[in-house]
Amino acid sequence: MPDEESSLTRREAFQTAAAGVLAVAAPATATPARAQAPSIKPADDDIFVVVDVQYDFLPGGALAVKDGDQVIAPINALAKRFAHVVLTQDWHTPGHISFASAHGGKKPFDMTRLEYGDQVLWPDHCVQGSRGAMISDEVQIPHAQLVIRKGYNRTIDSYSAFKEADRKTKTGLEGYLKERGFKRVFVAGLATDFCVAWTALDAREAGFETFVIEDGSRGINTMGSLDAAWRNMGQAGVRRITSAVIA
Ligand SMILES: [Zn+2]
Repeated sequence: MPDEESSLTRREAFQTAAAGVLAVAAPATATPARAQAPSIKPADDDIFVVVDVQYDFLPGGALAVKDGDQVIAPINALAKRFAHVVLTQDWHTPGHISFASAHGGKKPFDMTRLEYGDQVLWPDHCVQGSRGAMISDEVQIPHAQLVIRKGYNRTIDSYSAFKEADRKTKTGLEGYLKERGFKRVFVAGLATDFCVAWTALDAREAGFETFVIEDGSRGINTMGSLDAAWRNMGQAGVRRITSAVIA
């Protein structure tokens, strides 16, 4: 017994000493290259969720996200590294409650108060069956396994691919991902501060380890929404990464 105790003590002392050495050595080896080294290798229980890469959110579209088309190349490249991919598609009824045109006297990007809370009012976009609602032909992910549509209830918006803006109505994505045994959720697409952020936050809330791929996403940034979204995601434990870290 005394022997075991002393050996534990020695081991602890060694670990402490080793940690001390590492702490001293670390600054010399901490180079920017380390941040670029691939460190995440997608596994069979990882899912890549590609959010709303639809014509209306791309340059020339009804609710174009600045440089939105620049997400397509990184997303296509990333998708090749994931065995499992889900696409989301904003899919509104004509006259949807999130459209400014449905509220007399309101303009796009005004705020209004709806039954479930504050709502940004948007230009008409992603109307069911319209060309603007189509996922861009440039998105080349033939192995995507599910397209989940959201925002199809006329009186409720849905930024999140998991839960609508009333925070009660579920899309079914959580059940689908859990039933299939996925553990980590990687999110990219449009727009960072709305559908990407809300999807990532709900993925965290549902218990998934969650990553947002910054260079695979672009934001709208209305009234400070982009900074607020990154802050909220950080506080919720969503990890902010670039595609360079994915092997
Ligand atoms: Zn929408």
